[in-house]
Amino acid sequence: MKSFILAADVGGTNIRTALLNKEGEVLRSLKRPTLAQRGREALINRLVQMFNDTLKEGGVGLNEVRGIGVGFPGPMDVERGIVFNPPNLKGWQEVPLKDVLEKEMNRPVVLENDANAAALGEYWKGAGRGTGSLVCLTLGTGVGGGVVLDGKVWHGAKGIAGEIGHMTLVKNGRSCGCGNRGCLEAYGSSRGVIATMQELLERHRIKPKEAITVEAMGKWARAGDSGLGGLAQRAIREAGISLGIAIANVANLLNPEIFVLSGGVTNLGEYLFGPLRDEVNKRALPKAVEGLKIVKAVLGDNAGVTGAARALLLRSGRS
Ligand SMILES: [Zn+2]
Repeated sequence: MKSFILAADVGGTNIRTALLNKEGEVLRSLKRPTLAQRGREALINRLVQMFNDTLKEGGVGLNEVRGIGVGFPGPMDVERGIVFNPPNLKGWQEVPLKDVLEKEMNRPVVLENDANAAALGEYWKGAGRGTGSLVCLTLGTGVGGGVVLDGKVWHGAKGIAGEIGHMTLVKNGRSCGCGNRGCLEAYGSSRGVIATMQELLERHRIKPKEAITVEAMGKWARAGDSGLGGLAQRAIREAGISLGIAIANVANLLNPEIFVLSGGVTNLGEYLFGPLRDEVNKRALPKAVEGLKIVKAVLGDNAGVTGAARALLLRSGRS
């Protein structure tokens, strides 16, 4: 009986591997640094080693494993299992990762974009459980996105669907890592909210004693609404408004049942979510917000591996 699934969530900083059952419960998991600077071969060897260690710790043999789902930073061709030059991993120009891992592990492998995997994980076992359609936004250094419609990730014609972070919000706005200007990512990511704070601090000629981080901004905001606290609240509100505009646009376009937000920026709590929800209600068509849920993700670090396992269950056997 092949009742287990191996899964991985590969990030620029850490790799997480997990052993799951078919119901999507994480039975064992491991986390190790990616060490991306050591190159492609080293990363693949590390991943294979981690798969074997996860199996050993879980007391499960490879013959009991149905297949392997891998969440990996995009862009990629999920059908053919080819990775194209992810921005935070060097030396990954057109790598047939699916074939490479299938040869190493002798098991079917399915690749999924990391943001899509997180969306699928939250849909299957997290905040979106029981819904029919979900949009997930990951608010970290950048803004990632994933769209799940009728239980399946919507990949689009070239696998680029769900890149909400690069929706243009401001015509001639801040420059973005993608080369465009005014993208949501430049306003709603941790980098974006920090940039807004820096602008406000310069304008008010205030120099904080500690580094400007999302954590520090949360602390200042909670401390009160004058001085540093007031500016932090304002900067966070601006990020909430930007995210709210984007979500209203997506709500009108796709009319999903739920938006799930994850990542460090969501720790800013109601300072972020309050203005965000107000903005969505103000801008989206009334029917698009009727019963619409906008919530924090619940799976944390397990979202990516859970979604990667789901992708394997959905797609193995037909690829
Ligand atoms: Zn962009």
